Amino acid sequence: MTELDLTTFIRDVPDFPSKGILFKDVMPLLADPAAFRESIDRLAAWAGPRAPDVILGAEARGFIFGGALAYALGCGFVTARKPGKLPWTTVEASYDLEYGTDALQVHVDAIEKGARVIVLDDVLATGGTARAKIDLVNQLGGQVVGALFLIELSFLHGRDRIAGTDVHALIDYS
Ligand code: AMP
Repeated sequence: MTELDLTTFIRDVPDFPSKGILFKDVMPLLADPAAFRESIDRLAAWAGPRAPDVILGAEARGFIFGGALAYALGCGFVTARKPGKLPWTTVEASYDLEYGTDALQVHVDAIEKGARVIVLDDVLATGGTARAKIDLVNQLGGQVVGALFLIELSFLHGRDRIAGTDVHALIDYS
């Protein structure tokens, strides 16, 4: 079976959410049954051999891909959320976005010491979000066994922010 060209399901939206940002809109990919399934299958092919105990994904698109990936692998899913959203005691890490700054929190008991964690997102841009998620895993004593993305904007050099981490993306825009 030939692989689908997943890039044909990603829409470029210029100047969103602010001028100068070329936003990679994955909604057409999510809405297409074959493209969504193949995306998850290809993410799972990389993640599976790394034997994660949990996938860590941030809102909102990280929940969609992360939940489906965790189901496909038979592992758990942990949510990283913006401050004030999680009901239990949290730990926090702040980060810079391509367009702004923010912080992410996870529950203190969400990741067990020594747990194998893959951090996942739709897009690796500057790497700030991924850096924050890795910091959260480290704060809780987990072990990051991979950083996985649907899309990498490699011209932004996000990998430099998470040097030392095993990184993979299905699609690269260089
Ligand atoms: P960063 O922290 O800079 O690596 O940004 C990654 C996060 O911001 C991801 O959660 C993406 O969903 C979002 N993001 C940043 N830049 C873009 C972009 N050009 N297109 C779509 N999403 C983006």
